[in-house]
Amino acid sequence: MREFPVYNIQHYINGQFVDGVAGKTFENISPFDNQPINQIAEGFQEDIELAVAAAREAFDNGPWRKMTVQERLGYINKIADLIDENAEEISYLESLDTGLPISQTKKQAARAADNFRFYAQMVNSRLVGEAYKVDSEFINYTVHKPVGVAGLITPWNAPFMLETWKVAPTLATGNTCVLKPAEWSPLTANKLAQIIDQAGLPKGVFNIVHGFGETAGASLVAHPDVQLISFTGETKTGSEIIKNGADTLKRVSMELGGKSPAIIFEDAELEKALDAVIWGIYSFNGERCTSNSRLFVHESVIEKFTEMLKERVQNIKVGHPMDAETEVGPLIHRKHYNNVSYYINLAKEEGAEVISGSIPEEFKAGNYIAPTLLLNCNNEMRIAQEEIFGPVMAVIPFKTEEEVLRMANDIKYGLAAFIWTNDLKRGHRLAQSVDSGMVWINSHNVRDLRIPFGGSKQSGIGREGGHYSFEFYTETQVVHVAIGDPHIPKFGMKKQVAASSAEK
Ligand code: NAD
Repeated sequence: MREFPVYNIQHYINGQFVDGVAGKTFENISPFDNQPINQIAEGFQEDIELAVAAAREAFDNGPWRKMTVQERLGYINKIADLIDENAEEISYLESLDTGLPISQTKKQAARAADNFRFYAQMVNSRLVGEAYKVDSEFINYTVHKPVGVAGLITPWNAPFMLETWKVAPTLATGNTCVLKPAEWSPLTANKLAQIIDQAGLPKGVFNIVHGFGETAGASLVAHPDVQLISFTGETKTGSEIIKNGADTLKRVSMELGGKSPAIIFEDAELEKALDAVIWGIYSFNGERCTSNSRLFVHESVIEKFTEMLKERVQNIKVGHPMDAETEVGPLIHRKHYNNVSYYINLAKEEGAEVISGSIPEEFKAGNYIAPTLLLNCNNEMRIAQEEIFGPVMAVIPFKTEEEVLRMANDIKYGLAAFIWTNDLKRGHRLAQSVDSGMVWINSHNVRDLRIPFGGSKQSGIGREGGHYSFEFYTETQVVHVAIGDPHIPKFGMKKQVAASSAEK
């Protein structure tokens, strides 16, 4: 494995890497051994002020909005090429920072480059308006314009991919932005700033302020010159952001938490379903918003399926994040480790049987949680209702389709659902009734970039991806033009002229 140097990190504001105004830094800690990795500039309101001012100036008076779409998309494609060129370093930094296995962060780096290429292509084909000739006197037409300065706030679980998922459509549609990355995973956000700097984007178009949610994040949300907030993170943070953005009437996109069900019917292809649910909960160290953390298994196959699960769980390779063979690495942070451990203890108190894999002795200093199965659960337990966000899956038996549908929907979240059955009618029927933004039938968490992503209930507001991102990051403006005599009603005249039939 090739290693790359790591330096202390500054903010990126108005095309410059700069220290924070207050000169403060915070320590970035390794999930592998809880030792410091580097120091990160800590941003506060005054840093946000500078970054938003730079983004505002770049939007109002810089070349970004005035250049042709082709020129702008040239920059977007250049960023994609640079991500590809730096993919090895990006996946190294991501694994170092988050503990995600290197084989998984490599795929994320490739997906990040795809995000830029995809949105460049999509904007190119979608920047078309509608035109309506209204009798012979008027034409009405629409144009899509960028919204303004975007505030982008991202979590630590798949940092680089999720940052690019927001930055790419923001920039491709002509906005400028300030990114506030998660404080536990700043390394690849800094790499993105370096890449954007190298791509030569006009200064102020893209800015980063590092720091904590309650200070830097909250200041970005409250800033009157920021028109929209695209947020991915916990449900309770999303709710806080909506409240704080209300005074300045922010347009918001919310990608929030989940506790998604996978449902295995008796007629499912059990081996395939097994591969899918094991991957769905234990890849990404279980820190995946769409993970199938509630597994419903039909009572007639639960014994057999549980044996299959137990065998796999014991054999999952827990290891060093940089080892190409590793399937599960350490959790992001000690605080998160403590939280996941709390839920495993709670599972015992609530009466579940806990089955875990093992952690090699040499990794005990890290935030490792062995892949864990919680057996004999019911849907009312807290461990089945609350998002644990770790490699922990609650297994719940069911008897009938009606019963499993009721349990699947009996939760505040509605992000994803996975249905395993060979009865196509049943698969589609259930998909119609399950409360979730996304449903997979007989497949795992794969999706095309053209498809919307997002959740219902407390898992989110709105959709991003495909043309949904285009709509979120653009303003549709209507232009009404008179091409003949507009027949304007003459008020205040002695004799009124009859209004045109096209009057609105
Ligand atoms: P988090 O909500 O704690 O933090 C996310 C970001 O919000 C961070 O950058 C943080 O600094 C910032 N923040 C915190 N408080 C803030 C405030 N008051 N104002 C503004 N910003 C604030 O989430 P996390 O722990 O980083 O991420 C894990 C969560 O993200 C899980 O709930 C997971 O399900 C969710 N998630 C959802 C999706 C999705 O697409 N639905 C994808 C990935 C992760």
